[in-house]
Amino acid sequence: MAIDTPAKIVILGAGPIGLEAALYARFLGYDVAVFEAGELAASVRRWGHVRMFTPFGMNRSPLGLAAIQAQDESYRPPADDELLAGRQWIDRYLAPLSQTDLLAEHIQTQTLVVAIGKEELLKGDMPGNDGSEDGADRGDWSFRILVRNADGEERVELADAVIDATGVFAGGANYLGHGGIPAVGELAAADLIDTRLPDILGKDRQHFAGKHTLLVGGGHSAATNAVALAQLAREASGTRVTWITRREGPAGAGGPIALIAGDRLPERAALARHANDLTRIGLAGQLQEASNGNHQAATGSVTYWPATVVEKVTGKVRSTADHEFTVELSGRHAGTYQFDRVLANTGFRPSNWIIEELQIHRCYATDGPMKLAAALLGQQSADCLDQTTCGPKTLLNPEPNYYILGAKSYGRRSNFLLSVGLEQIREVFTIIGDRETLNLYDNVKLSR
Ligand SMILES: Cc1cc2nc3c(=O)[nH]c(=O)nc-3n(C[C@H](O)[C@H](O)[C@H](O)COP(=O)(O)OP(=O)(O)OC[C@H]3O[C@@H](n4cnc5c(N)ncnc54)[C@H](O)[C@@H]3O)c2cc1C
Repeated sequence: MAIDTPAKIVILGAGPIGLEAALYARFLGYDVAVFEAGELAASVRRWGHVRMFTPFGMNRSPLGLAAIQAQDESYRPPADDELLAGRQWIDRYLAPLSQTDLLAEHIQTQTLVVAIGKEELLKGDMPGNDGSEDGADRGDWSFRILVRNADGEERVELADAVIDATGVFAGGANYLGHGGIPAVGELAAADLIDTRLPDILGKDRQHFAGKHTLLVGGGHSAATNAVALAQLAREASGTRVTWITRREGPAGAGGPIALIAGDRLPERAALARHANDLTRIGLAGQLQEASNGNHQAATGSVTYWPATVVEKVTGKVRSTADHEFTVELSGRHAGTYQFDRVLANTGFRPSNWIIEELQIHRCYATDGPMKLAAALLGQQSADCLDQTTCGPKTLLNPEPNYYILGAKSYGRRSNFLLSVGLEQIREVFTIIGDRETLNLYDNVKLSR
């Protein structure tokens, strides 16, 4: 639904997509406020030590570069083909972007969005109107946004349009148990279970050194952790990993991680191969690690158990830094085992509680917004690089002027790419600005 400037657009989340969306809106002359629960790019900071698999050129917009360069002539961006770690991406691009005149005064960090509704309207009022008809609809009322700062003080902010770029981490990790529900005891042990990508070879080293870790998951996060733990095992004796996946590894992969034929992202391909090789080394116990040319014995530090699921988990605190887990597994390697660490890389879900009072139609399978989710069902390639955006109309929700972009727009699907998010931003502003051909990314000047 078209909104004339200088209307107010509130953006939820100062991750990469929230920042880029805010910049685009500011270039168009909208009044913008960005609310971020933590620090700038809080989610990316959590995996800041990990190298990205897409080159910098895919992770930045021409508008972003132009904004930084317009302010600081000495700014030298990373080369477009450079593979940055998350932390470098923040330091060399996202942070300078957030400090440009266009954005600096418009970002409020440590400001949690608690809930969103509409002035005067309840969720059930005026249903089924997506703003495409003439006459009054829910879009005539402002959004009412409850935010809370770091001191716990709450206030209400109003907005004409909202872009929700809160990502998927706030909703929490998917559960370990059968059918995606918690394993017996998992909720009670939740505080002791590690998730995400700890800095295993850096600041979290002592947490894993000399320990036996149960690693759960079959995606690239699990692969990254397996490779780091195997490296730690070479450096710190007694370090071991038992890696389980719900299903068998994909046919022909030689391990848990799917290989993409002719992968155009060498970093991703190398990670998958390395992780799969480790599981074969683990099985044989004494094989040499051929894939990366490291011929030191990797004497079975990684044991891989496919088709194995956590049935029950009990966590005990031995001391502040030391835990002990008793884990009952079912499936191929059924039995009861002891571990020092449980590291769950089972994926994440978006936090939809903030939109409970709005008319957002969510997909029953992915939890993503329905129109986009339905369109994505048609994209079945195993390679996220093959994705395209699905058109501006798929970004519309039954709630007029509420748009979900970025990783959250994919719900529980894990194949979102930043380059897709940038394209979503261009598309959403063709709706908000009511100009089908609007494309600031094409018309940008790169110098003052
Ligand atoms: C290890 C790793 C490597 C990756 N490498 C690549 C890569 O090479 N290429 C690629 O394309 N993608 C990569 N990704 C994925 C990419 O990082 C994410 O898709 C991207 O961060 C999504 O950006 P976003 O802005 O949508 O969400 P996020 O980065 O998750 O940002 C969301 C922000 O919203 C904030 N927030 C959440 N809830 C609230 C709330 N209620 N109120 C206020 N603020 C809130 C969060 O604190 C966060 O700062 C990688 C991911 C990981 C984990």
